[in-house]
Amino acid sequence: MTNNIKITRTNSPKPKPDSTNLGFGKYFTDHMFIMDYNSRDGWHNKRILPYGPITLDPSAMVFHYGQAIFEGLKAYRVPAATSSVVPEVAGTLANGASEPIAPYRILLFRPEMNMKRVNISNARLCIPPVDVDECVAAIKSIVDIDRDWVPSAPGTSLYIRPFILATEAHLGVRPSETYHFIIILSPVGAYYPEGLNPVKIFVESNYVRAVRGGIGYAKTPANYVASLKAQMEAKDKGFTQVLWLDGVEKKNVEEVGTMNVFFKINGEVITPALQGSILPGVTRDTTIELLKYWGIKVTERTISIQEIFDAHANGTLEEVFGTGTAAVVSPVGELNWNGSSIKINDFEIGELSQRLYDTITKIQTNESPDTFGWTIEV
Ligand SMILES: *Cc1c(COP(=O)(O)O)cnc(C)c1O
Repeated sequence: MTNNIKITRTNSPKPKPDSTNLGFGKYFTDHMFIMDYNSRDGWHNKRILPYGPITLDPSAMVFHYGQAIFEGLKAYRVPAATSSVVPEVAGTLANGASEPIAPYRILLFRPEMNMKRVNISNARLCIPPVDVDECVAAIKSIVDIDRDWVPSAPGTSLYIRPFILATEAHLGVRPSETYHFIIILSPVGAYYPEGLNPVKIFVESNYVRAVRGGIGYAKTPANYVASLKAQMEAKDKGFTQVLWLDGVEKKNVEEVGTMNVFFKINGEVITPALQGSILPGVTRDTTIELLKYWGIKVTERTISIQEIFDAHANGTLEEVFGTGTAAVVSPVGELNWNGSSIKINDFEIGELSQRLYDTITKIQTNESPDTFGWTIEV
């Protein structure tokens, strides 16, 4: 797979960070993957280089008109199936010593879904499509080169951040003719060091994130900058995140922060349908597949915030949770809408939220059989 990727290894590997205090996105590994696009050669010049700054012209179009997309997925270190394998060496520790470690494998979770989503985002942002299989192969290569960086403490993982940016030096408003596709890697800590815990959510009735016909379904930095202000104000008011309503009537539910959202009402699970303003999450898809497999009714449809508050009032609102790669499942314990607050499931983790979290994380780390064929080995 690596034969058409030119590999330049670092001469100065960095010490690995303390795996009990990784946080999110604070540390980066020794290498990065880059390929370039121009209209003559298409995507070309695939290479793995030492991690470090890149040079761009100040007039690079990404800085001016925002043509960029990104992805997020994780690699997990799991014990090797057999115990008779000769231990590998975990590279250089902070103290300069080499540490023998137990045999392990590295798994990715549904990476082809992320790479297909790159092309959905690219199409909306007028960025040329990538080859899905080549990009999955690129992820495998870069993770393999930095495999010692995949942390082993429970709940930790190696976060993979592929992204594309417009590089042409030009100020006229039109799509760029050149791009970089880059993959960087960051060892990240457990999202819930003390187990799942419910969060307080502010239902946002002032700011909007996206409208139908806009770019809400694309994974692009612009959607994130559009959401920062609401998120900061919600934090100041003591909430973890905002629940986004539709951008026109501010009536129907869209997403919770940067996660997809699910409601369990009277035994049925409901999630907003994908109608152009919502990000089609991999974890959302995984959740829907599992619910169907378990025989739990799951419906993708328009759902209003009023319907959720009504369901709470008549005692049928059982659970609310968000889904996304970072947290996997995030239970919602409280919703505040126009000054009135409801507590969901007495601010306790719902049974289904817990079951989904346990099932997905166990498949990701090979503690449960992967019946769906969702994991692939690096
Ligand atoms: C990435 C993202 C999600 C979650 O998608 P996953 O593929 O499950 O990680 C949800 N909403 C937004 C806005 C996102 O950017």
